[in-house]
Amino acid sequence: MSAETPVVEPGWLPAAPDWFADALQCWSASGPQKNRGHAYLVVSEEAAEANLFIRLLAARQLCLEGNSSAPCGVCKGCRAYRQGVHGDLMILEREEGKRAIGIEQIRSATRFLQQTALYGERKILLVQQADLMTPAAANSLLKTLEEPSGNCLLLLSSAAAWRLPPTVRSRCQTLRLPKALPTAATLWLAEQSGWSSEEVDKALRMTNGNPVSAWDKASRDPMHFSGALEESFSALEHDAAHRGVPEAWSRVESEVLIERLLPWIEAQCRRADLDFLRQEGVSWMLLHHCVAELYGRIKQGATPGADILAAEVYRLCRSRGHAAFSEVSRDFLINLGRLGVSG
Ligand SMILES: [Zn+2]
Repeated sequence: MSAETPVVEPGWLPAAPDWFADALQCWSASGPQKNRGHAYLVVSEEAAEANLFIRLLAARQLCLEGNSSAPCGVCKGCRAYRQGVHGDLMILEREEGKRAIGIEQIRSATRFLQQTALYGERKILLVQQADLMTPAAANSLLKTLEEPSGNCLLLLSSAAAWRLPPTVRSRCQTLRLPKALPTAATLWLAEQSGWSSEEVDKALRMTNGNPVSAWDKASRDPMHFSGALEESFSALEHDAAHRGVPEAWSRVESEVLIERLLPWIEAQCRRADLDFLRQEGVSWMLLHHCVAELYGRIKQGATPGADILAAEVYRLCRSRGHAAFSEVSRDFLINLGRLGVSG
């Protein structure tokens, strides 16, 4: 897959997969827009599919063209959705670095639902992977489910609905998504991505056969399935003469780079060959320690410049086999301060 081809437009939605049809039918049959129920729980084996389903429902509701089968993508409502600035839509999910959806998130959602809809219809709240709510958060949401304010619509998604309190589940109409059949999955991903059949097969293998996960990953990280990063890592491993930060590294966000680099370093650490461990194992483990620490800091909100960061990580990787490695890693950690990474 060529890295130049834009795979999926971030922030916008693919066409509804065929296997969503029955659940979409149930949704449409549940009433005309204005007197439809106010809370739905969408359940699927795959979180990415349930999330996509509620995003599609929200987009249909917010499209001002009133086409019930698909959002037009160009009206004022769709444009605001695309840019992530629609004033009548709030999407809740677990925040980066958090284990759960907390009560503060639900409280801010409640305040949002109490405001008047800007575009005249409804305020829409999506809770992605709602089973990740803490008990207190679920309890707080329950109050809104019992006494919804004004004209609002709550769409919850879950791949583990049994974790939700029965009181929350019973207040929602449940829509169940079936598992995608392999042929439908392949066809849908090929149509949405424009990839070759080998690329589609590879992406499906890497996501346990889940096409929506594959689409989701590709929309956040265009190089996800291209192999360009992995090639750059293996060049580091084998090409001792290689100089300069690999080109692919400057084309991804710092977080993505490190997220992909870590499993590769881990694989090196796990190589069980005793000779290898004696010669290089410790330096790989040190490298892992340093990069993982850096990753933790980025997760906590540090935003080092991508280019400087790539150069630093590259320098660290190159130095892994040197006797002075621990010296260099200390140097590297001190440098984090210079990069604006505090903590
Ligand atoms: Zn529209």
